[in-house]
Amino acid sequence: MELKIVEGKEKKQKPTGALGFGKYFTDRMFVMEYENGAWGNARITPYAPFSLDPSTAVFHYAQAIFEGTKAYKNQNGEIRLFRPRDNFLRLNDSGDRVCIPPVDVDFVTDCLTKLVLMEKDWIPTEPGTALYIRPSVIATDAALGVHASKKYIFFIILSPVGAYYAHGLEPVGLYVEQEYVRASKGGTGHHKVAGNYAASLKGGEKANALGYDQVMWLDAREHKYVEEVGSMNIFFVLKGKAVTPALAGSILPGITRRSILELLRSKNIPTEERLVSIAEVIEGIESGACTEIFGTGTAAVISPVGRVGYNGKDYVINGGKMGEISRMAYDTLTGIQTGVLPDPFGWVVRIA
Ligand SMILES: *Cc1c(COP(=O)(O)O)cnc(C)c1O
Repeated sequence: MELKIVEGKEKKQKPTGALGFGKYFTDRMFVMEYENGAWGNARITPYAPFSLDPSTAVFHYAQAIFEGTKAYKNQNGEIRLFRPRDNFLRLNDSGDRVCIPPVDVDFVTDCLTKLVLMEKDWIPTEPGTALYIRPSVIATDAALGVHASKKYIFFIILSPVGAYYAHGLEPVGLYVEQEYVRASKGGTGHHKVAGNYAASLKGGEKANALGYDQVMWLDAREHKYVEEVGSMNIFFVLKGKAVTPALAGSILPGITRRSILELLRSKNIPTEERLVSIAEVIEGIESGACTEIFGTGTAAVISPVGRVGYNGKDYVINGGKMGEISRMAYDTLTGIQTGVLPDPFGWVVRIA
């Protein structure tokens, strides 16, 4: 397929204050459409709203998927992407679950590279900042019948984002949610399907109202096993081993999760992927066997956990401070992503 470049005249003012997350967007976006059984009309075009009929499928039945990754630029102007093909492979897995046709991974990776290079002046360079990349696919049949759409729009938008932690890596408080669930086996929780996030909002608001930053989600059936935290995967350091819930059908297979597992193994830190019950976590915190808890995801990379609220009681981990393994994981992974450290894993794609 050919990639067309549509130039626009208007260029936006770049933001001057704090970037925050996902508030500003660059001048251009990538778009292509699926129609008559094939993707086509691939183009880099000025960033602009879509005009869609009110009956459009995605508005009613949430047939939509997305991805999240980042481009990093250092002071020398070098630009790097982190495992971009893995995001598009996962996009296709998510699409399969909700009947969205797959994209050509090599083609869209190439289009993303071109888009990022055209928008390179938008990539911030201060420590902790990046250009957040949001690929999405939405169903665009204009009809109310509940069925898989025959038309789709795939688009990639880019957002310069600030350091996730404005005041250094601050440990967060988690609320163990025992009423609402995020995902169940056989459902869509294993995939980046838009509707999952609507389903998670209520739990998030409840946790915030109770004074916590994020939800610790338990399994849907028994409310006994830990699954994820907010929209991050979760790790526990238990008796010196880094333990994370196994991917058993209701947990999002995070690319950061996989990278951290590979990184810890390369440093000879023992890892386990298995069921982790909330009882084991609480006992571990009380006995001192659980020395660290952290979340992993593209946005924060590593989010240390200082406090867990369970059954009306607060449990403090490591005196509420970030632990050694969390710190090493954060420094090493962000170092590789930004090119400060060498990349023995072959994760980083340098594009400029
Ligand atoms: C995106 C996401 C993650 C983290 O995935 P990364 O590839 O590491 O960014 C974890 N859990 C949920 C629910 C997510 O949506």
